[in-house]
Amino acid sequence: MTYPTQPTASHFIGGAYVEDTAGTPIDVVYPATGEVIATVHAATPAIIDKAVTSARTAQTAWAAMTGTERGRILRRAADMMRARNHALSVLETYDTGKPYQETSVVDATSGADALEYFGGMAATLTGEHIQLGEDWVYTRREPLGLCVGIGAWNYPTQIACWKGAPALACGNATIFKPSETTPLCALKVAEILHEAGLPAGLYNVVQGMGEVGGALVSDPRVDKVSLTGSVPTGRKVYAAAADGIKHVTMELGGKSPLIVFEDADIENAVSGAILGNFYSSGQVCSNGTRVFVHRDIKDAFLQRLSERLANARIGDPMDPDTSFGPMVSERQKDIVLGYIATGKSEGARLVTGGAQMERDGYYIQPTVFADVTDEMTIAREEIFGPVMAVLDFDDEADVLRRANDTEFGLAAGVFTRDLARAHRIAAGFEAGTCYINTYNDAPVEAPFGGSKASGIGRENSKAAIEHYSQLKSVYVRMGDLEAPF
Ligand code: NAD
Repeated sequence: MTYPTQPTASHFIGGAYVEDTAGTPIDVVYPATGEVIATVHAATPAIIDKAVTSARTAQTAWAAMTGTERGRILRRAADMMRARNHALSVLETYDTGKPYQETSVVDATSGADALEYFGGMAATLTGEHIQLGEDWVYTRREPLGLCVGIGAWNYPTQIACWKGAPALACGNATIFKPSETTPLCALKVAEILHEAGLPAGLYNVVQGMGEVGGALVSDPRVDKVSLTGSVPTGRKVYAAAADGIKHVTMELGGKSPLIVFEDADIENAVSGAILGNFYSSGQVCSNGTRVFVHRDIKDAFLQRLSERLANARIGDPMDPDTSFGPMVSERQKDIVLGYIATGKSEGARLVTGGAQMERDGYYIQPTVFADVTDEMTIAREEIFGPVMAVLDFDDEADVLRRANDTEFGLAAGVFTRDLARAHRIAAGFEAGTCYINTYNDAPVEAPFGGSKASGIGRENSKAAIEHYSQLKSVYVRMGDLEAPF
């Protein structure tokens, strides 16, 4: 089989590829076929130490550069990512199994957007002047130091950039640990950043499972950790970071509601439900997997949804016509099939899909359950696969209460032509990212993140700067200083 240019070693440290075959081997599997396409090695303690030492050494000079100089490098890297979009998208497809139709317009492009946005912002970062009579205070916006990013497997290029770009713009050094399921793409991000002129040691990539992430989080030389992952992992990483009083950003899981009122444009609402459940084969954290549909339009909604799902092109992810690919791994496929079985056994009505597909790789049919009730497992737990739960409702206040009745609070959406109602519902949602008559947009200009158990802090936008820098206040006395004795 042919697959794209592979990174040449497991880790990227101090501006160069580094290998240490003493680390546990991790096979990289192409989810569309089950073939092993690469093997990387988990970081040994020596590799982790090398990355931390290299980052700490490089950070001081980086922070001393002007924002314009730092930003220029990030913007150059953004241009290079766009110029190499095809190769990066192919690699993303092999790493994750997501269709090229998606990766070619979402992953490297979204990563490039983050590099460009924060590259542009680097020169604008300032403190402020606070006058106190004739005395005054000024604040300095300073970097945190060494920021560790830990990634999930669904958007490996994007996550590597969303964490790296604001950290570097603020003058930090970074170490990124990709998910062990998708280790390849972040190495290419590191390569590009260094080709764009990033000094050695500022963007390092080390591979490994949770224990490598854990070793990084508990290293006293690390100042901040930003995790994208599940809530159980978030609890562990947050606790370990708390032990060292470290800064955190937590981008965790969700079970987000999508409410479709009786006056909604049905075609648009079905589009939103498809985007919010089946894009990336449903492996998106912010997915609106609890679709509350007003009883008056339930039959029409389900009929149009089924018709539209029949148009999904399921197959070879590299075929540009393919719009639906496999689960990322055999393990994830088994988890999702388990939830489908639970949905059936708890009495949800299977409308379409519901089975693994008869072909190589980890394909599951786009699946819709109707007549789902609030207490069913498929309405309460994050599935992270192509399984939509449709629930009925009659009353606005009641559906909002049910939508919020979850430990999660990542995203939420509403489809209605009544804009006053739309804003009322958006104000009532307990979620960090809300959508009116759309779903799952994530432009770099807007804050992204969760409330409740779905997370702490925000990625993207100006808000991210607060999570990668800290303010120092400097008091200046202009006259004589009196003391009591
Ligand atoms: P996961 O929690 O299993 O793993 C996430 C990362 O944490 C991996 O790199 C893993 O190696 C690492 N890790 C595991 N244990 C660790 C520990 N004790 N210390 C440090 N690091 C540790 O998640 P996943 O299965 O890779 O990804 C799916 C999850 O990620 C879903 O819950 C999804 O909702 C969430 N997610 C959230 C967002 C968001 O922005 N909110 C985006 C994508 C995915």
